[in-house]
Amino acid sequence: MSTSAQLREETEAKGIEETACCVVGGGPAGAMLSLLLARQGVEVTLLEAHRDFERDFRGDTLHTSAMEILDEIGLAHRLLKLRHAKVRHFTVPTKGDPFTFDLFSGLKTKFPYIVVMAQSRFLEFITDEAKRYPNFRLAVGARVEELVEEDGVVRGVRYRGRDGWHEVRADSTVGADGRFSKVRKLAGFEPVKISSPIDVLWFRISRREEDPKEALAARVGSGLFMVFIDRFDYWQVGCTIVKGGYKEVREAGLDRLRRSLARVAPEWADRFGELKEWKQIPILSVEISRLKCWHKPGLLLIGDAAHVMSPLGGVGINYAIQDAVVASNVLGEKLRIEEPIREQDLAEVQRRRELPTRAIQTFQSLGQKGVARGVLSSEGERAFAVPRFVLPLLKSSRLLAIPARFLSFGLRPPHVDFSGKKRLVRVGETLVAYYEEGDGGPIVLLHGCPFSSFIWRKVLPLLSRHYRCIAPDLLGLGDTETPKDADWSLRSQAAMVVRFLDALGIERAHVVGHDHGGAVAQLLAAEHPDRIERLVISNAEAYDNWPSEEERPFVRATQVPVLGDMVMWLYSRRAVFRLALRGAKAVHDPKAITKELLDGYIRANLSDRRRRAKTRRFLAGQFDPENNRTTTDLLEGLRRFDHPTLLVWAKDDPHFGPEWGERLRRDIPGAVRLELLPETGHLLMEEKPEQFAGLVCEFLAGRVHEAKGAE
Ligand SMILES: Cc1cc2nc3c(=O)[nH]c(=O)nc-3n(C[C@H](O)[C@H](O)[C@H](O)COP(=O)(O)OP(=O)(O)OC[C@H]3O[C@@H](n4cnc5c(N)ncnc54)[C@H](O)[C@@H]3O)c2cc1C
Repeated sequence: MSTSAQLREETEAKGIEETACCVVGGGPAGAMLSLLLARQGVEVTLLEAHRDFERDFRGDTLHTSAMEILDEIGLAHRLLKLRHAKVRHFTVPTKGDPFTFDLFSGLKTKFPYIVVMAQSRFLEFITDEAKRYPNFRLAVGARVEELVEEDGVVRGVRYRGRDGWHEVRADSTVGADGRFSKVRKLAGFEPVKISSPIDVLWFRISRREEDPKEALAARVGSGLFMVFIDRFDYWQVGCTIVKGGYKEVREAGLDRLRRSLARVAPEWADRFGELKEWKQIPILSVEISRLKCWHKPGLLLIGDAAHVMSPLGGVGINYAIQDAVVASNVLGEKLRIEEPIREQDLAEVQRRRELPTRAIQTFQSLGQKGVARGVLSSEGERAFAVPRFVLPLLKSSRLLAIPARFLSFGLRPPHVDFSGKKRLVRVGETLVAYYEEGDGGPIVLLHGCPFSSFIWRKVLPLLSRHYRCIAPDLLGLGDTETPKDADWSLRSQAAMVVRFLDALGIERAHVVGHDHGGAVAQLLAAEHPDRIERLVISNAEAYDNWPSEEERPFVRATQVPVLGDMVMWLYSRRAVFRLALRGAKAVHDPKAITKELLDGYIRANLSDRRRRAKTRRFLAGQFDPENNRTTTDLLEGLRRFDHPTLLVWAKDDPHFGPEWGERLRRDIPGAVRLELLPETGHLLMEEKPEQFAGLVCEFLAGRVHEAKGAE
């Protein structure tokens, strides 16, 4: 039997796995991409050749950009609970005394340092986080050796596992298998190499209590450039030599190498005796290369598989993570809703990442030449020293901020899309997408119609300083997915919120509701008062006020048979949507309708045919008399709700003006105050986020003057 026939037979016996995205390689790029996709509800399978994440040839540095990305998905804080060191000071040799400077003093960031952490711990942390999602699968000891291709399109991979051959079929395959990428080879891609004049000797020495307290130390001299990484139990040492110089180093003998090392790094001199044989000192061929094209139909390459990074600057992990963020931003949504990934989507990932990658590789290439010329060839009298004119630059935090920013972020640093930051939780047959930020007492923020949790993005960072903020997408809107014909009425929304709280293990929460979310909040107050601690309602649907006179024409237009689809499509155009929001007087100051606002609103509810169809159906519910009646039917219960309640009302809202706030204030026994925000339209959290968040915080902390009166 031929090998491929045997392979097919064996694979068939084991079964073929189907997934939306198959990621090959559990390094920083693959692990991070898998997590970001899993969070979005994408079926993802991660295949890693090794059985664990322990590897000698791994970098250990996480720069500011990676930390900010982790912070965006709420993980930075937890990651920093793992054993790590923070590096912000660097020492360079000068003609006089060594000079120490704080590289990050000019950066405005929560993370002005490099985090040094064993990469294996980091990867375990990321994959453990991904394992929380049932749609994620990790296969270790799974070495990919074949691509499954049909009509020139990659449809998945075959891998060799502990128990033989397996096949994974996928809508998209991502090769994140590092500098020696098998996937890249199988796809027939040849990287373009940029000359590298250095190689690295890579070895460990033991660590003692009295050793230097630098987590990342560099020593230069005697033609050597050494980096010491504190791995807590031992020192990982990288010693740069001139490319091709290994043979010479070996010929000169171990003793000579040990003496040179001791001369350059006397603090560790007594440790180099531990290097007893050459096999303890492997040579790492430093390479810089990149692919001209990162994709072919069905396949994308990211991380070192697309662009091999030199260890210089310790940025490879960060670029791998940034690639993962962009790939997840571009592909996540389509994979989730099972829309075909076109090659132009894959090309978009390369388009966004190519310039930053080229820029850093140019920097690495120049840096390597500098190291080879200035450091490796300098000895004795000609020992390397930072030129005198550079010192004033190192003393100025503003000037230092320029290289620090480039090193920490690179060009065009990506951010996780708001949608990618959301989490998913199953509530019955519904997958509720929600955004969560902060620690403390829980606040649930309910958005309006036809919006999504995106609407809270400006107030969340302010509230989350004190509270655990949870903003779900309501049924039928944003990223929440229900069965096709599910009920999206107000009653179902309230029932979903209760079960959502149950799913998150939250007994009682503060509730903040706006517009349609304000109506849901009233229903909760009327029928589930025990689940609410304190209540905030703003510019809400109430009584018989909805849909408002002003919005009726805009909503009605979407319901016209056949033409309604066209109207929805028109709303998905930025310029038209801007006009619609202005026409419907959604804000007082039209300048509040920014491109960012329009894109966020469009993405959530109008960006593709399926979302538009959902939104159109949702809007139909605005004209359903039974649904409309809910806000009057609930009054009996609402008139019993005596928990502290704040009404925050935009004064210039032509939809639901202050008179509705005033009426609610009179009807809700617990209402303590009606706060009016002048020169503010319906979307008050867009126009006055600080004021809105400030009022909510004061009220939740019990500081709002608890007198029944309008301000
Ligand atoms: C010695 C050295 C030191 C470095 N130091 C640093 C540093 O301090 N900081 C920094 O930011 N960067 C550093 N770099 C660069 C950095 O390690 C890489 O840029 C980064 O790891 C790339 O991440 P990746 O996920 O693309 O690939 P990798 O980290 O290489 O991960 C690829 C993964 O794919 C798996 N794999 C390979 N083939 C297959 C297959 N056929 N099937 C399944 N799985 C497979 C591998 O086991 C591996 O886990 C260093 C590089 C080297 C070589």
